[in-house]
Amino acid sequence: MEQRTIMEYEPEQLEPYDFRRAMEEASRCLLCEDAPCTKGCPAGTDPAKFIRSIRFKNTSGAAETIRENNILGASCALICPQERLCQAACSRCGIDRPIEIKKLQQFAMEHERKSGRTYLNKAKTYTGKRVACIGAGPASLACAAELAKQGVEVTIYDEHEEAGGMLRYLIPPYRLPEQVINQDIDQLVKLGVHFELNHHVSTEELETLKAEFDQVFIGAGMWESKTLPIPGLTLDGVVMAINFLNEAKKNHGQIDRLGSVVIIGGGDVAMDCAATSKLLGAENIYDVFIEALDEAPAVQSEKEFVFKLGVPMISEFKPVEFIGNGKVERVRFEHIKNGSTMEIVADTVILAVGQKLCDVAKSWTEEDGLFIGGDMVNGGDTVVRAVKEGKEAAAKIIESFRG
Ligand code: SF4
Repeated sequence: MEQRTIMEYEPEQLEPYDFRRAMEEASRCLLCEDAPCTKGCPAGTDPAKFIRSIRFKNTSGAAETIRENNILGASCALICPQERLCQAACSRCGIDRPIEIKKLQQFAMEHERKSGRTYLNKAKTYTGKRVACIGAGPASLACAAELAKQGVEVTIYDEHEEAGGMLRYLIPPYRLPEQVINQDIDQLVKLGVHFELNHHVSTEELETLKAEFDQVFIGAGMWESKTLPIPGLTLDGVVMAINFLNEAKKNHGQIDRLGSVVIIGGGDVAMDCAATSKLLGAENIYDVFIEALDEAPAVQSEKEFVFKLGVPMISEFKPVEFIGNGKVERVRFEHIKNGSTMEIVADTVILAVGQKLCDVAKSWTEEDGLFIGGDMVNGGDTVVRAVKEGKEAAAKIIESFRG
């Protein structure tokens, strides 16, 4: 396979609908009363409403509907597991196939980008209240946007160089291009949200911020990888998924020779690691997980993408030992049902078995007079769920001002 960087890879699924295709798809919509697709969105996006707008050639109206509800509307159009959410609930599932809500949302957000229009306006009057949001990931961004729209002055603190959290630093660019993240972040800037980046907030500083601001929201992400208690974990070449994906993005896909790669895990992050390894030119790649193939937690479209790239998946095996002399050479696996074993040669092993909060974030709770959302509440879920929690926290903060 020709080697190219992951930044250069543009799969078909990122290709937005053109006007004719969008009209065709929107015209399949049944314009349901009390639309089930709307109930299927955790963040409360109203696909029935924006599809109706597209159908009547009002693409700006569609973009406005999406934006008003979800500050990460452009990113969510690409990375939301719609096949499990709004599209799974679509009435057309019982007739032929669901409406491609994801593609229609992407079409509307492309219109916003190309037109340069802004659908959210700064509040006309300020409340005089100030809120600090810790973390510049989805939950904080959603909380900040809701507050800014209601006249609250918001400052977002994040230790990274750029805003976006996991969107920016973990999701590979072939799934979510930088320009789409920037399109969403720009909306916050236009709302007047202030960003303090490259700024790590310690527990001590948190106390200062609590005194300086009227309220503090924490939306820290799960930036630590879970590991497995098996021998050989510290061998060179055994890396954590979060570090691998982060490095691949930071170095624009220029990672030192990976050689033969074994990925352990069956979730979306594991699929990202498998696809990224392939696109970086790794030689032999296997993704091995404990679940049966249809029970592996990654969304179907991600599994299909990895299959298409030619990465074999081996189900129902668990790793029992990483073998090597200073550097990993092989991984031994055991079948979870019949106990049979196998070994796979590996120069690089990527552990993608879940993430967790760092200890400091775990110690911050609502009992400390803080508002909390995102991974800290849901234990690591979808971006759209983090958006929902950010919005809910903003509503509680506004309520606290009224109280
Ligand atoms: S459920 Fe499906 S058909 Fe009904 S309004 Fe929503 S997208 Fe259209």
